[in-house]
Amino acid sequence: MAAFWTDSDWDDHELVEVVHDRASGLTAIIALHSTYLGPGAGGTRFWHYADPADAMRDALRLSRGMSYKNAMAGLPMGGGKGVVLLDEERRKSPEMLAAFGDAIEAMGGRYVTAEDVGASEADMVAIAERTDHVCGLPVEQGAAGGDPGPFTAYGIYLGIKEAVAHKLGRDSLEGVRVAIQGCGSVGGGVARLLADDGAELVLADIDTSRAEALAERLGGRVVPADRIMATPCEVFSPNALGAILNAESIAGLDCAIVAGGANNQLARPEHGTALAARGIHYAPDYVINAGGIINVSIEYLCRHGELTSSADQVNERIEQIPERLREIWNESETTGLSSDVVADRMAQRLIGR
Ligand code: NAD
Repeated sequence: MAAFWTDSDWDDHELVEVVHDRASGLTAIIALHSTYLGPGAGGTRFWHYADPADAMRDALRLSRGMSYKNAMAGLPMGGGKGVVLLDEERRKSPEMLAAFGDAIEAMGGRYVTAEDVGASEADMVAIAERTDHVCGLPVEQGAAGGDPGPFTAYGIYLGIKEAVAHKLGRDSLEGVRVAIQGCGSVGGGVARLLADDGAELVLADIDTSRAEALAERLGGRVVPADRIMATPCEVFSPNALGAILNAESIAGLDCAIVAGGANNQLARPEHGTALAARGIHYAPDYVINAGGIINVSIEYLCRHGELTSSADQVNERIEQIPERLREIWNESETTGLSSDVVADRMAQRLIGR
């Protein structure tokens, strides 16, 4: 336990549970950072970690990020995160999903799960056979819920438009060059919306065929995954994995704005200051990428009788993301603090810390 108190990722989390189920082979972590505003909501990541300590670090960081994200999105939800430790082939079984569902159920509603990297809607359906405290389930057309990816992408697209207006004084994305790292559910969705507005796309994915297929559909150019961060552009949009902004990569950026959906983009807190020092406009990740959690939280609240209408509320709330970003950038300009620090302080005030 003592080790937690010195770990910079440990932030007075309310509860951290390690779940091990011998029969199914499930090993998982459920971290609840804060339930101050409501049940701790945040998806479950299914991933292979060479070192289990990295899984714990992910659970701690991601659950704190969810507290901040849900608070800044104005949701009556706290922050939590699940991490399921998979083998090298990333195999999961129905028995593991059932055991994970039982572990969530045993928490009595303090934790609510949804999809994250490595999880599908079908996984959520399997978990829902054991517990009600799950969202991101298939829904009827027009209702809140389902795959959060497109909703996350919509919020990022709106955030990029706002950043372009704020930093570059341009009210259209026509001809604005955006370099997109990661062409999956979120990156692909962002690319589609940007292409509709006439943005110039530069695409990269470690799975090159994904980037090529997207470029063929939308137009744009593909560059190797290890070159995307140094691509000259107006906006760099990270939509793959986290911790990509470090001293070396920040020095190599050739953009005016960083705005994308990957969680925990800053490798360390000081890298927010490093971006600001280079004059790069940064959209704090958990503010710009809240569209998905807004969608599935509203689905959950409707299903549990706490809200009545749904689909309209989802878009209305996502459309508040640009306003929240503007507030952060304005305060950053007034105080001289970097945008990530301003956002963290706003979020901490909202969760009573
Ligand atoms: P995804 O698995 O659908 O797509 C990720 C893509 O990134 C894949 O195509 C993968 O090949 C690619 N990739 C991985 N490493 C890369 C690298 N180094 N360079 C280039 N490409 C790389 O996942 P997703 O749902 O699109 O999520 C992307 C990011 O957004 C993750 O960090 C996730 O935590 C975050 N996020 C997702 C949501 C959501 O609603 N899905 C919500 C909030 C945040």
